[in-house]
Amino acid sequence: MGVKENSIFSQIIEGKIPSHKLYEDEFVFSFLDVNPQSPGHALVVPKEPAKTLDELSEESAEAIGRVLPKISRAILKATRTKEFNILQNNGPNAFQSVFHVHFHIIPKIPGGPGLEIPFVTSPLDQDEARSLTAEIRKNLD
Ligand code: AMP
Repeated sequence: MGVKENSIFSQIIEGKIPSHKLYEDEFVFSFLDVNPQSPGHALVVPKEPAKTLDELSEESAEAIGRVLPKISRAILKATRTKEFNILQNNGPNAFQSVFHVHFHIIPKIPGGPGLEIPFVTSPLDQDEARSLTAEIRKNLD
């Protein structure tokens, strides 16, 4: 399953670097982030050492999808919060700093700590939307 590599998360999964482990199964490992944006901020990581989400196998993707809600629920209960963000960065310009796929679960405390994003948006151009939709659909396999 993928080429052996040595990211810090692979070393955590292998127990070579300590972590506050929350969950583990055959495909997935989860632990607290060492620099939390809010209490309970955790990472959910596939054991497969894919660098970015687009490189991840369906098997690992399914396994992550299955456990994200369950781990989120446990974090919400434990931190007595109701709101949270899932953050998943791919590539250095998209704020990825560890090149091993991971999903952040970040509890959001109203008016308090949690993820802050300055969303920059502009209205969808209809011509561009039509051509992008066609191009993207063509590339789904
Ligand atoms: P990203 O910017 O999406 O690549 O996020 C990487 C995350 O990994 C950051 O939030 C770091 O705080 C976290 N991180 C890096 N090293 C460790 C570690 N040894 N244990 C726990 N979290 C870590």
